[in-house]
Amino acid sequence: MKIDVLTIFPDMVKPILGQSIVGRAVHEKKLEINVIDFRDHSPNKHKKVDDTPYGGGAGMVLRVEPVVNALRAIDGHEHAHKIIMTPQGKPYAQADASRLSTHDHLIVLCGHYEGFDERIRAHFDEEISIGDYVLTGGEVAALVLVESTVRLIPGILNKDASHQDDSFSHGLLEYPHYTRPREFEGERVPEVLLSGNHQAIETWRKAEAVKRTKARRPDLFETYEKAQKKRGK
Ligand code: SAM
Repeated sequence: MKIDVLTIFPDMVKPILGQSIVGRAVHEKKLEINVIDFRDHSPNKHKKVDDTPYGGGAGMVLRVEPVVNALRAIDGHEHAHKIIMTPQGKPYAQADASRLSTHDHLIVLCGHYEGFDERIRAHFDEEISIGDYVLTGGEVAALVLVESTVRLIPGILNKDASHQDDSFSHGLLEYPHYTRPREFEGERVPEVLLSGNHQAIETWRKAEAVKRTKARRPDLFETYEKAQKKRGK
Protein backbone atom coordinates (compact mmCIF):
# COMPACT_ATOMS: atom_id res chain seq x y z
CA MET A 1 0.00 0.00 0.00
CA LYS A 2 1.05 3.58 -0.62
CA ILE A 3 -0.16 6.43 1.60
CA ASP A 4 0.38 10.12 0.87
CA VAL A 5 -0.32 12.53 3.72
CA LEU A 6 -0.89 16.16 2.72
CA THR A 7 -0.09 18.57 5.54
CA ILE A 8 1.52 21.94 6.29
CA PHE A 9 3.08 20.44 9.44
CA PRO A 10 5.08 17.45 8.14
CA ASP A 11 7.17 17.34 11.32
CA MET A 12 4.04 16.57 13.34
CA VAL A 13 3.49 13.43 11.31
CA LYS A 14 6.87 12.07 10.14
CA PRO A 15 8.42 11.07 13.49
CA ILE A 16 5.34 9.11 14.56
CA LEU A 17 5.06 7.26 11.25
CA GLY A 18 8.69 6.20 11.61
CA GLN A 19 7.95 4.26 14.82
CA SER A 20 6.52 0.91 15.83
CA ILE A 21 4.50 -1.21 13.41
CA VAL A 22 4.07 1.47 10.73
CA GLY A 23 7.78 2.37 10.86
CA ARG A 24 8.76 -1.30 10.60
CA ALA A 25 6.42 -1.86 7.64
CA VAL A 26 7.98 1.13 5.85
CA HIS A 27 11.49 -0.12 6.68
CA GLU A 28 10.62 -3.58 5.30
CA LYS A 29 9.16 -1.93 2.17
CA LYS A 30 5.72 -3.43 2.79
CA LEU A 31 4.37 0.09 2.89
CA GLU A 32 5.28 3.42 1.28
CA ILE A 33 4.39 6.62 3.13
CA ASN A 34 5.04 10.09 1.74
CA VAL A 35 4.45 13.17 3.84
CA ILE A 36 3.88 16.09 1.49
CA ASP A 37 4.00 19.71 2.58
CA PHE A 38 1.40 21.30 0.34
CA ARG A 39 2.88 24.71 1.15
CA ASP A 40 5.45 23.81 -1.53
CA HIS A 41 2.59 23.79 -4.06
CA SER A 42 1.32 27.26 -3.29
CA PRO A 43 1.26 29.58 -6.31
CA ASN A 44 2.02 32.43 -3.90
CA LYS A 45 5.68 33.57 -3.77
CA HIS A 46 5.57 33.57 0.04
CA LYS A 47 4.12 30.04 -0.01
CA LYS A 48 0.95 31.24 1.64
CA VAL A 49 -1.73 28.55 1.90
CA ASP A 50 -4.49 30.40 3.74
CA ASP A 51 -6.56 33.52 3.28
CA THR A 52 -9.39 35.46 4.89
CA PRO A 53 -12.93 34.12 4.42
CA TYR A 54 -15.22 35.73 1.87
CA GLY A 55 -18.17 37.20 3.74
CA GLY A 56 -15.99 37.92 6.78
CA GLY A 57 -15.70 36.07 10.04
CA ALA A 58 -13.02 34.82 12.39
CA GLY A 59 -10.08 32.68 11.33
CA MET A 60 -8.35 31.84 8.09
CA VAL A 61 -9.38 29.41 5.36
CA LEU A 62 -7.14 26.98 3.44
CA ARG A 63 -6.95 27.97 -0.20
CA VAL A 64 -7.89 25.51 -2.90
CA GLU A 65 -4.85 25.85 -5.24
CA PRO A 66 -2.04 24.55 -2.96
CA VAL A 67 -4.12 21.49 -2.05
CA VAL A 68 -5.25 20.67 -5.58
CA ASN A 69 -1.78 21.34 -7.04
CA ALA A 70 -0.22 19.01 -4.44
CA LEU A 71 -2.85 16.36 -5.14
CA ARG A 72 -2.25 16.50 -8.89
CA ALA A 73 1.51 16.19 -8.41
CA ILE A 74 1.09 12.78 -6.73
CA ASP A 75 1.85 9.84 -9.00
CA GLY A 76 -1.31 7.80 -9.54
CA HIS A 77 -3.57 10.30 -7.77
CA GLU A 78 -6.36 9.66 -10.28
CA HIS A 79 -6.84 6.10 -8.99
CA ALA A 80 -6.09 6.73 -5.32
CA HIS A 81 -8.77 6.84 -2.62
CA LYS A 82 -8.71 10.43 -1.41
CA ILE A 83 -9.76 11.35 2.13
CA ILE A 84 -10.21 14.66 3.95
CA MET A 85 -9.85 14.65 7.73
CA THR A 86 -12.61 16.90 9.10
CA PRO A 87 -14.89 16.96 12.16
CA GLN A 88 -17.75 17.22 9.65
CA GLY A 89 -16.92 13.80 8.16
CA LYS A 90 -18.24 10.28 8.75
CA PRO A 91 -17.45 9.13 12.29
CA TYR A 92 -14.49 6.76 12.03
CA ALA A 93 -14.82 3.17 13.22
CA GLN A 94 -12.97 -0.15 12.97
CA ALA A 95 -15.08 -1.12 9.95
CA ASP A 96 -13.68 1.92 8.11
CA ALA A 97 -10.12 0.93 8.99
CA SER A 98 -10.84 -2.52 7.62
CA ARG A 99 -12.38 -1.11 4.42
CA LEU A 100 -9.50 1.35 3.87
CA SER A 101 -6.88 -1.37 4.42
CA THR A 102 -7.95 -2.99 1.12
CA HIS A 103 -6.98 0.04 -1.00
CA ASP A 104 -3.64 0.15 -2.82
CA HIS A 105 -3.25 3.90 -2.52
CA LEU A 106 -4.66 6.38 0.00
CA ILE A 107 -4.23 10.15 -0.02
CA VAL A 108 -5.08 11.87 3.27
CA LEU A 109 -5.53 15.63 3.61
CA CYS A 110 -4.95 17.32 6.97
CA GLY A 111 -6.81 20.60 7.26
CA HIS A 112 -5.87 23.53 9.47
CA TYR A 113 -7.13 26.96 10.55
CA GLU A 114 -10.87 27.63 10.54
CA GLY A 115 -11.42 25.14 7.72
CA PHE A 116 -10.86 24.77 4.00
CA ASP A 117 -12.29 26.31 0.86
CA GLU A 118 -15.45 24.37 0.04
CA ARG A 119 -14.19 23.74 -3.53
CA ILE A 120 -11.53 21.37 -2.16
CA ARG A 121 -14.26 18.84 -1.32
CA ALA A 122 -14.99 17.95 -4.96
CA HIS A 123 -11.43 16.58 -5.38
CA PHE A 124 -11.76 13.97 -2.61
CA ASP A 125 -13.75 10.75 -2.27
CA GLU A 126 -14.70 10.84 1.39
CA GLU A 127 -14.51 12.85 4.59
CA ILE A 128 -13.66 11.27 7.92
CA SER A 129 -13.97 12.52 11.50
CA ILE A 130 -12.20 10.78 14.38
CA GLY A 131 -14.78 12.00 16.90
CA ASP A 132 -17.14 14.73 17.97
CA TYR A 133 -14.52 17.21 19.09
CA VAL A 134 -12.40 19.76 17.25
CA LEU A 135 -8.62 19.46 16.90
CA THR A 136 -6.36 22.30 15.79
CA GLY A 137 -5.36 20.41 12.66
CA GLY A 138 -5.91 17.12 10.85
CA GLU A 139 -2.44 15.68 11.58
CA VAL A 140 -3.33 13.73 14.72
CA ALA A 141 -6.53 12.53 13.04
CA ALA A 142 -4.58 11.36 9.97
CA LEU A 143 -2.19 9.45 12.25
CA VAL A 144 -5.16 7.69 13.86
CA LEU A 145 -6.41 6.68 10.43
CA VAL A 146 -3.02 5.50 9.16
CA GLU A 147 -2.18 3.55 12.37
CA SER A 148 -5.50 1.76 12.53
CA THR A 149 -5.58 0.96 8.81
CA VAL A 150 -2.01 -0.22 8.30
CA ARG A 151 -2.13 -2.83 11.09
CA LEU A 152 -4.98 -4.58 9.25
CA ILE A 153 -3.03 -5.08 6.01
CA PRO A 154 -2.13 -8.78 5.77
CA GLY A 155 1.54 -9.37 6.61
CA ILE A 156 2.01 -6.19 8.65
CA LEU A 157 1.46 -7.55 12.16
CA ASN A 158 3.75 -10.36 13.29
CA LYS A 159 0.73 -12.62 13.67
CA ASP A 160 -2.14 -11.60 11.43
CA ALA A 161 -4.52 -13.36 13.80
CA SER A 162 -3.62 -10.89 16.54
CA HIS A 163 -6.07 -8.26 15.32
CA GLN A 164 -8.91 -10.67 14.72
CA ASP A 165 -10.03 -10.66 18.36
CA ASP A 166 -9.41 -6.92 18.84
CA SER A 167 -12.23 -4.83 20.25
CA PHE A 168 -14.85 -3.97 17.60
CA SER A 169 -13.70 -6.68 15.16
CA HIS A 170 -16.72 -8.84 15.99
CA GLY A 171 -18.94 -6.13 17.42
CA LEU A 172 -17.68 -6.75 20.98
CA LEU A 173 -14.93 -5.32 23.17
CA GLU A 174 -12.03 -7.70 23.64
CA TYR A 175 -11.82 -10.15 26.57
CA PRO A 176 -9.39 -9.48 29.51
CA HIS A 177 -5.73 -10.48 29.18
CA TYR A 178 -3.30 -11.80 31.80
CA THR A 179 0.41 -12.64 31.77
CA ARG A 180 3.03 -13.61 34.40
CA PRO A 181 3.05 -13.65 37.40
CA ARG A 182 0.21 -16.04 38.20
CA GLU A 183 -0.46 -14.11 41.38
CA PHE A 184 0.11 -10.39 42.08
CA GLU A 185 -0.67 -8.99 45.55
CA GLY A 186 -3.26 -11.70 46.15
CA GLU A 187 -4.93 -11.38 42.75
CA ARG A 188 -4.78 -14.62 40.83
CA VAL A 189 -5.04 -15.23 37.11
CA PRO A 190 -8.38 -17.00 36.36
CA GLU A 191 -7.85 -20.78 36.66
CA VAL A 192 -9.36 -21.52 33.26
CA LEU A 193 -6.50 -19.67 31.50
CA LEU A 194 -4.00 -22.03 33.13
CA SER A 195 -6.01 -25.15 32.32
CA GLY A 196 -4.67 -25.77 28.82
CA ASN A 197 -8.27 -26.53 27.77
CA HIS A 198 -8.60 -24.47 24.58
CA GLN A 199 -12.33 -25.00 24.26
CA ALA A 200 -12.94 -23.85 27.86
CA ILE A 201 -10.64 -20.84 27.36
CA GLU A 202 -12.48 -19.82 24.22
CA THR A 203 -15.86 -20.11 25.98
CA TRP A 204 -14.61 -18.06 28.94
CA ARG A 205 -13.16 -15.35 26.69
CA LYS A 206 -16.37 -15.06 24.70
CA ALA A 207 -18.44 -14.79 27.89
CA GLU A 208 -16.07 -12.14 29.29
CA ALA A 209 -16.19 -10.15 26.03
CA VAL A 210 -20.01 -10.18 26.17
CA LYS A 211 -20.05 -9.21 29.88
CA ARG A 212 -17.57 -6.39 29.33
CA THR A 213 -19.33 -4.99 26.27
CA LYS A 214 -22.72 -5.11 28.02
CA ALA A 215 -21.32 -3.20 31.01
CA ARG A 216 -19.12 -0.65 29.22
CA ARG A 217 -20.75 -0.17 25.84
CA PRO A 218 -24.49 -0.99 25.96
CA ASP A 219 -24.85 0.76 22.58
CA LEU A 220 -22.39 -1.66 20.96
CA PHE A 221 -23.99 -4.60 22.71
CA GLU A 222 -27.43 -3.74 21.40
CA THR A 223 -26.10 -3.68 17.82
CA TYR A 224 -24.26 -6.96 18.43
CA GLU A 225 -27.37 -8.65 19.80
CA LYS A 226 -29.49 -7.48 16.87
CA ALA A 227 -26.91 -8.84 14.40
CA GLN A 228 -26.81 -12.17 16.27
CA LYS A 229 -30.61 -12.45 16.19
CA LYS A 230 -30.63 -11.69 12.48
CA ARG A 231 -28.16 -14.52 11.93
CA GLY A 232 -30.46 -16.78 14.01
CA LYS A 233 -27.99 -17.24 16.88
N1 SAM B 1 -14.09 25.11 11.84
C1 SAM B 1 -14.05 23.71 11.49
C2 SAM B 1 -15.40 23.09 11.78
O1 SAM B 1 -16.07 23.55 12.68
O2 SAM B 1 -15.75 22.09 11.14
C3 SAM B 1 -12.97 23.01 12.29
C4 SAM B 1 -11.60 23.32 11.81
S1 SAM B 1 -10.32 22.55 12.78
C5 SAM B 1 -9.83 23.83 13.84
C6 SAM B 1 -8.99 22.47 11.65
C7 SAM B 1 -8.75 21.12 10.98
O3 SAM B 1 -8.48 20.13 11.96
C8 SAM B 1 -9.90 20.56 10.18
O4 SAM B 1 -9.98 21.13 8.89
C9 SAM B 1 -9.56 19.10 10.14
O5 SAM B 1 -8.63 18.77 9.12
C10 SAM B 1 -8.90 18.86 11.48
N2 SAM B 1 -9.82 18.27 12.48
C11 SAM B 1 -10.27 18.88 13.60
N3 SAM B 1 -11.06 18.06 14.30
C12 SAM B 1 -11.12 16.90 13.62
C13 SAM B 1 -11.78 15.66 13.84
N4 SAM B 1 -12.58 15.48 14.91
N5 SAM B 1 -11.61 14.67 12.94
C14 SAM B 1 -10.84 14.85 11.86
N6 SAM B 1 -10.17 15.99 11.60
C15 SAM B 1 -10.31 17.02 12.46
